[in-house]
Amino acid sequence: TTFAEIDLGEALNQNIKRCKYVKPTPVQRHAIPIAIAGRDLMACAQTGSGKTAAFCFPIISGIINKHLSQPKQPSMVSRSAAAASPLALILSPTRELSCQIFEEVKKFSYQTGVRVVVAYGGAPMHEQLRELDKGVDILVATPGRLVDMIERARVSLRLINYLALDEADRMLDMGFEPQIRKIVERMDMPRPGTKQTLLFSATFPDEIQRLASDFLSNYIFLTV
Ligand code: AMP
Repeated sequence: TTFAEIDLGEALNQNIKRCKYVKPTPVQRHAIPIAIAGRDLMACAQTGSGKTAAFCFPIISGIINKHLSQPKQPSMVSRSAAAASPLALILSPTRELSCQIFEEVKKFSYQTGVRVVVAYGGAPMHEQLRELDKGVDILVATPGRLVDMIERARVSLRLINYLALDEADRMLDMGFEPQIRKIVERMDMPRPGTKQTLLFSATFPDEIQRLASDFLSNYIFLTV
């Protein structure tokens, strides 16, 4: 299999070619078609497996093909408060990982019109807020900082169509479960059942399986 054979769309395929990704890794080969088909997914994937692209490509492709082609929301409707409203959220445990994911998403969103922002704790919020206010389609964030922004009404999750949780086991080890649950509840409140969730984890203890059964619907479980 090559990336060209997977239906990711012309714009993303150009970027994949430009970045010299030719052959999908095993997790990409299996996860991408499942995600493109709109299914929820729980995938077992280690660092170095190519898992970042496995959840980023379907999200980028979905936004280009399903959302950017539609007219933007009238500003009257979309911005009653000054909250940024991304279409996709990627949660990861640390600043370092969030920045890595951000760079990957940016690389593959090049010249597509998809806007990407990263938000993490331990750094001043104002610069991240300034980026958010320029517009955001895909937000990459750590859970604590995101909850903070939601509570300040600077981020709204009401337009979220895609949620990816990366290194979910590590996020739980770091004590982020309450924040993650709060975030997911916020998303489901306005429009239950409208988003697609992709959960990636290196290990599958009981806590992760519980998270999966709470967050995913009719999901496919993938181990490679
Ligand atoms: P990850 O497991 O997502 O952290 O990816 C590990 C490394 O592999 C990163 O540096 C990626 O840029 C690279 N990579 C991921 N998928 C591919 C691919 N299909 N072809 C070439 N390099 C890749």
